[in-house]
Amino acid sequence: MQNLEVNLNHIRQRIAAACASVGRDVNSVTLVAVSKTVGVEAVQEAVKLGITDFGENRVSELVNKRAAVPNVRWHMIGRLQTNKVKEVIDKAYLIHSLDRWNLAEALQKRAEMLDITVPVLLQVNISGEEQKAGVPPADVLPFLQAIDQLPRLKVMGLMTMAPLSDDPEHSRPIFRELAEMQKRLRQYEIPNVSLQHLSMGMSQDYEVAIQEGADLIRVGSSLFQGV
Ligand SMILES: *Cc1c(COP(=O)(O)O)cnc(C)c1O
Repeated sequence: MQNLEVNLNHIRQRIAAACASVGRDVNSVTLVAVSKTVGVEAVQEAVKLGITDFGENRVSELVNKRAAVPNVRWHMIGRLQTNKVKEVIDKAYLIHSLDRWNLAEALQKRAEMLDITVPVLLQVNISGEEQKAGVPPADVLPFLQAIDQLPRLKVMGLMTMAPLSDDPEHSRPIFRELAEMQKRLRQYEIPNVSLQHLSMGMSQDYEVAIQEGADLIRVGSSLFQGV
């Protein structure tokens, strides 16, 4: 799969340029390759090219691909139903999509049974689009302050999705707001909440996301389809 190598080199150059434009170290950004549209072979090829982190938005896909390709990190990035928690909780390296309290409770309950802790990101609906998952910005602080009641959860950061757009600049205010929210919330030093990660940016806008502080970018189509 020569195209994958070409696409990846192109993306790596653009990541490096985005980092350089704001004086960031290129190693501060992790490319999470979103493999939801491709099979195990493409994932294996990507591993050979040095990709270490993969993202899936469906539990069944994550579980199956992880079984075939176990020696990389698998990120759960899509909406998680509570009845799927038990399948994925000990398979995902990081769950990016904690978006509601009853999911937090379901994760806590299962984690207790397995005697594990669960690293998660809180998904925030900055754009306010109704069809988008995520906690509304005004609810984020009370949500995080209540997380103390669920000691098996470790909130490692924030995640958001910008609206679909042809113009990456449309995403900039959304990403900036998430980064500012991260800074504000850090001052509270909330127990079980560390907020070191910002998961934002996809094929359409990952360079803007890097300029605004993303350390986890979730890129699918421009890597695997070259678009
Ligand atoms: C599909 C998906 C991505 C990647 O989107 P591309 O446009 O293919 O790069 C990122 N994040 C989430 C949550 C997704 O579902």
